[in-house]
Amino acid sequence: MGDDWVKNGAMEMISSFQVLPKLVVFDLDYTLWPFYCDCLSKNSMPSLFPHAKDILYALKDKGVDIAIASRSPTPDIANDFLEKLGIKSMFVAQEIFSSWTHKTDHFQKIKQRTGVQYNEMLFFDDENRNIEAVSKMGVTSILVDDGVDLGALRQGLSKFSQNRSLLEKNKQRWRIFSQKSTSSG
Ligand SMILES: [Mg+2]
Repeated sequence: MGDDWVKNGAMEMISSFQVLPKLVVFDLDYTLWPFYCDCLSKNSMPSLFPHAKDILYALKDKGVDIAIASRSPTPDIANDFLEKLGIKSMFVAQEIFSSWTHKTDHFQKIKQRTGVQYNEMLFFDDENRNIEAVSKMGVTSILVDDGVDLGALRQGLSKFSQNRSLLEKNKQRWRIFSQKSTSSG
């Protein structure tokens, strides 16, 4: 940590996008940290992927809320680790529980808790089945390869703004179409 260039790079990158998500949601295992926390003992000292902490801080500084959606079967260990890393209080919602749905129930809870619509959210996860299920809900979802890093952040923010402008175009088209059909009817 302490490499300012990551945080500065993230801040600059976030500023370069006109449209930003209201909420960025992160998986834990192999997205924020490089292990399955149920395989570690409570006493271990966890560490995050190298860019993760700076990205979390940059988002917060830019006024973007952050949350957690994890299917970890050991929420007590996950919470302990978040505490030890000093980042637990940064998240506006933390849904950590195992479930057979691929995080759709996690996102329903996050939406209830925060009031943020699915199309205002950006999500990072390392498992394709979660990405597929959650993107069907309307959340812009990015599969990470090797944890969250600046490259993944850029990809996420770009895809989010593309999705938003598509949505706006469709809305406009629909408005024009319904105006036409009322005036001709
Ligand atoms: Mg994971």
